[in-house]
Amino acid sequence: MTKSIALLPEHVANQIAAGEVIQRPSSIVKELMENAIDAGATNINLIIKDSGKTLIKVIDDGCGISNTDLSLAFQRHATSKISNAKDLFSLKTKGFRGEALASICAISHVYTVSRTPEDSTAKFIKIAGSKIENEDFTVANIGTSFSVKNLFYNIPARRNFLKSDSVELRHIIDEFHRVVLAHPDINFSFSQNGKEIFELKKTNFRKRISSVFGLKVANLLVPISEDTPVVKISGFVIKPLGSRKSRGQQFFFVNNRFIKSPFLNHSVNSAFEGLLSSGYYPGYFILLEIDTNKIDVNIHPTKTEIKFEDEQSLYSILRSTIKHSLGIFQVTPTLDFDRDSSMDTPYSYKERAPTSPNISVNSSFNPFKDDLKIYSYDSKKDTTQIEFESESVQEILNIDDYDFNPKQIKVFQLFNKYLVTALPSGLMIINQKRAHQRVIYEELLSNLSLEKIPSQSLLFPFEISVDSSELTYFFDNVTELLAMGFEFNMKEKSKVITFTAIPALFDKNQVEKLFENFFSDKFKYEGFSKADVISKKLCRSMTINNGKSLNIEEQQQLLASLFACKEKNLSPFNRPIFINFDMQEIDKKIN
Ligand code: ADP
Ligand code: MG
Repeated sequence: MTKSIALLPEHVANQIAAGEVIQRPSSIVKELMENAIDAGATNINLIIKDSGKTLIKVIDDGCGISNTDLSLAFQRHATSKISNAKDLFSLKTKGFRGEALASICAISHVYTVSRTPEDSTAKFIKIAGSKIENEDFTVANIGTSFSVKNLFYNIPARRNFLKSDSVELRHIIDEFHRVVLAHPDINFSFSQNGKEIFELKKTNFRKRISSVFGLKVANLLVPISEDTPVVKISGFVIKPLGSRKSRGQQFFFVNNRFIKSPFLNHSVNSAFEGLLSSGYYPGYFILLEIDTNKIDVNIHPTKTEIKFEDEQSLYSILRSTIKHSLGIFQVTPTLDFDRDSSMDTPYSYKERAPTSPNISVNSSFNPFKDDLKIYSYDSKKDTTQIEFESESVQEILNIDDYDFNPKQIKVFQLFNKYLVTALPSGLMIINQKRAHQRVIYEELLSNLSLEKIPSQSLLFPFEISVDSSELTYFFDNVTELLAMGFEFNMKEKSKVITFTAIPALFDKNQVEKLFENFFSDKFKYEGFSKADVISKKLCRSMTINNGKSLNIEEQQQLLASLFACKEKNLSPFNRPIFINFDMQEIDKKIN
């Protein structure tokens, strides 16, 4: 049967368009804040509830929308910013597609109040699912206030797709960062569930970076500057010392618009070549001014991607500008290129608190009862196979030899990566990193169940600087961190966490690095309890790495601790810890 062609009803078309522009609460935050900026606001307040799922409100003191235009603003392709195609090539505003408001009101409840200086009264409008429910005159200051409630109320699939509050809040904070960094000359505030997260006063670019990311980052900024006919470059790069394992501090702004650009990012990376340890990313806040005729921002609905006319020149100019600045500020000579961060924190059980010996903690362990599965791991296929299940640990480990007295364990280290130990029934090869992860993980978890946590007070409390999303994340996990033996206080304004005590298990020199990893860990931990996630994250960054040479006592202690663990076979991330070659297998091959 042939189906006849019909135009989609306006509200359906708007819902479809909304899918492109509005992915999550943070997309609305971006659009509303950008509209406020385009309206010339000098004060912009962002208020959200439940990470934007319940409410997103943006109040500005910009030019306002006239009484007659208010309902028009919500129609698709309604914009005051361009009037013909030529204008597309000289864009000075953030918006121009006239799509955002139409999209937002198609998928939520919107309440807007606005007043221009010319109008003597304000007007409000109430829209739900693209339908105007109410519109009338009211009293308000000059400017606009936008409330967006019940996001995706009419598209359950999209609503269910939203992530946890802390993930959505992170996205919002990311968007907020992008907007406030691009506009240091505007006052911003941001609160969530009645709690103030930011209060940013009008300032310069450097100080804005400092108030968003803290003094630690601000102290590591190296200014960059270049002026050519192709591009004018200004802003800062972070000294290699401040490089991170995450890309959270990478910002390009082209004509005050935040953009993502893999090729410009590549150019920065190449300027940092040889200065960063592997796995670390440079931080930067780079402002590019380019003639609007030489760029095309019209290629992406959310306008975060951009096309440049002369990419190649841009690439080389940026690279040499950064190299030049890193040179002038003598960043290069102070660095130890071959520094291996895994060597920074010596792995030594001797330094551990004597109050919590591993073996006694796991008193429930009974080697004669516990079944041990033997796994073999095929690294090529990345699969694990259970080869056989032995009767008991006793059969595998020579209990008389071991007796969980570490000094008796016969072991040697292979490739600085594996521990090899002989068993009466064969040979066992243990992945040292995974074994250590398991040991630390169980110890952290067992701390949680102790009444008195083995914790060490610090004679000299030390501070770590965080950004606001990190602070929020830390705050979310406060109860569990306290239960583990951390003691600290947090200063919200200066974004500093001061540790006064840490779990006995930790070396205080490790803690800063530990939390850096803690915040940047991208492993998907869905479905685990908070305590479990924290233990997993911390154990991941505390453990010895492959490539670390261990002395004989360390090897013995690690094995003894592993075999005293409740689960010996798998790392906390479900990877096999060891493989076993039984005697028959060996006999078959070489007897
Ligand atoms: P665009 O920003 O692409 O023009 P939007 O849908 O975001 O499209 O907004 C439509 C129009 O509504 C804008 O062009 C502008 O005229 C008006 N508008 C939206 N928000 C504001 C605001 N906060 N202050 C003044 N005018 C606004
Ligand atoms: Mg807009």
